[in-house]
Amino acid sequence: MAELTLVTSWDDGHPADRRLADILVRHGIAGTFFVPAVNGEGRPVMTPGDLRALASAGFEIAAHTRDHRRLTGLEPAEVREQIVDGRRRLEDVLGMPVTGFAYPGGHAGRHGRAAAVAAGFAYARGTEMFRLDHGPDQFMLATTMQFHPHGWPALTRNWLRCGGGLGRLDLACRLAGDLDRGLAGLLGIGRRRGGVFHLWSHSWEIDQLGLWPALDRACAALAEAIPPGRRRTVQGSLA
Ligand SMILES: [Zn+2]
Repeated sequence: MAELTLVTSWDDGHPADRRLADILVRHGIAGTFFVPAVNGEGRPVMTPGDLRALASAGFEIAAHTRDHRRLTGLEPAEVREQIVDGRRRLEDVLGMPVTGFAYPGGHAGRHGRAAAVAAGFAYARGTEMFRLDHGPDQFMLATTMQFHPHGWPALTRNWLRCGGGLGRLDLACRLAGDLDRGLAGLLGIGRRRGGVFHLWSHSWEIDQLGLWPALDRACAALAEAIPPGRRRTVQGSLA
């Protein structure tokens, strides 16, 4: 079997991240939480105390703009402000440097990538799926799957958005329909090929869709397949 590294990341800093973190801890899985200062879409964000507790537990806390604004269509100055302020506010809360960033909605727009580089981040994550590596761009890191029961239209859009490519098609096909079967299929391919298995999602969505038992099963399957020494935060997987 080829060597496979497990990376998990979780967007939006919703208070349900605490429940998610408990599940990760129980299975010995590392994770990165991408957290905006406030969520302009109206969803709550964890308290400073919650964020510090997650950081103390060994999770990576990373930035996700100040207001969870999509960067597409914003002027360069607004993009800069969203990225730089979001990071500074998180660093003030944590009292430590924040090195990672994820684009809200996965889109950098015209100015987001350059602004993330200029802000001094080590990496930025996008939402491309169906890859077993980080992809070619450290400022648009790819993922393997979102923990979300996407139907064919969304899976096809994601596949096409990142250029299609036969290399990702077999992974995309495995993911349609049932989440348990999809994860097992992707994990099987990952174990044969090796690389990085990057699972991501939103805890608020897992909560809304009643996917906690499914997430617990997924974490058990991942922990069974990938040894503790190969479970990383996003930053840890790049080091
Ligand atoms: Zn988000």
